[in-house]
Amino acid sequence: MSDPLTFLWPSVDTPEPRFTAGQIASWPADAVRQLDGLGILRRTDNAVHVVCPGCSEGHVEEVVPQTGPDGHTRFFIPCPESLRVEVPETLLLQWTVDFDALAVALAKALALRGHPKTIVPGRLWRLGKTPWQGANREVLFARGLGWPDGLTVTCHVGPNGRPIILVADQTPPDAVWAGRPPATIVLAQVAALGENGIEIDAVDVAARVNEADQRVATVMGLPVTGAEQKLAIRQQLKAEVRTHLEDDVLVASYKECGSYRKAADALTQQLGRKITKDKIGRAVLRAGGPDEVVQTADSPSVQRSVASQRRDGQKIICKSS
Ligand SMILES: [Zn+2]
Repeated sequence: MSDPLTFLWPSVDTPEPRFTAGQIASWPADAVRQLDGLGILRRTDNAVHVVCPGCSEGHVEEVVPQTGPDGHTRFFIPCPESLRVEVPETLLLQWTVDFDALAVALAKALALRGHPKTIVPGRLWRLGKTPWQGANREVLFARGLGWPDGLTVTCHVGPNGRPIILVADQTPPDAVWAGRPPATIVLAQVAALGENGIEIDAVDVAARVNEADQRVATVMGLPVTGAEQKLAIRQQLKAEVRTHLEDDVLVASYKECGSYRKAADALTQQLGRKITKDKIGRAVLRAGGPDEVVQTADSPSVQRSVASQRRDGQKIICKSS
């Protein structure tokens, strides 16, 4: 059986989700029972338009209720074939999503601290707090962030990008956020319905939050805060050192061997990965060109870096041929 929540997510970001009796009947019975049990699925007003059940034309008509002298209401639609068709009330029943109940189920699934609270009715809920690298982060559930009035919702989230936002199945564009976009988690990718309610893999969510934080930091060119900032700086330093080290090694091998091709062959063999002569050439150019390179004495750090990139720690050996 497919996860019952897969029936739910696509409707979360529609303004007034309605499931007809026909749709509900096509879902697995277990799905309906579970969602109903959690209070997430609930009955709402009857449909005012239906597909004609009296002919094969498939025409949609407005339902006309008629209350008899006994107080009993019956429902009819016009039909080109039968003139008038009575529609059983069971065909008019509709269900919707109780988003407050969904918010409660999500907070429970993530074992958050505190109680869910509505911030913007029907649109934004503060679910609680989750510990995050020595501090707390607020977790919110939002819907309709991509609607024309999305900014009236996102303005309640704050500009620092700290909260974690849960959305149904669509990541809103960065433009909906007035400040730094918060980490957005797509529920359709992490949530499933278990016997005891919605289940969310917290480790998976943490990994996705990390990824989202880093993406935003890259897009915004902004440092992350605290420990994350230090980590980001360390990673950037490492990358720079790696590039620098690589250039030093390429240039040193050229000096040793005297030609791009020989240097490339020697390094390829000794580093155990393919180094092209063009790569050597570009590094030499970055270092000021062949003349400049040959005249510059090797520094002790270059000698060390050459050795450190080799598996056996030995000096580069050029073949004479
Ligand atoms: Zn008809």
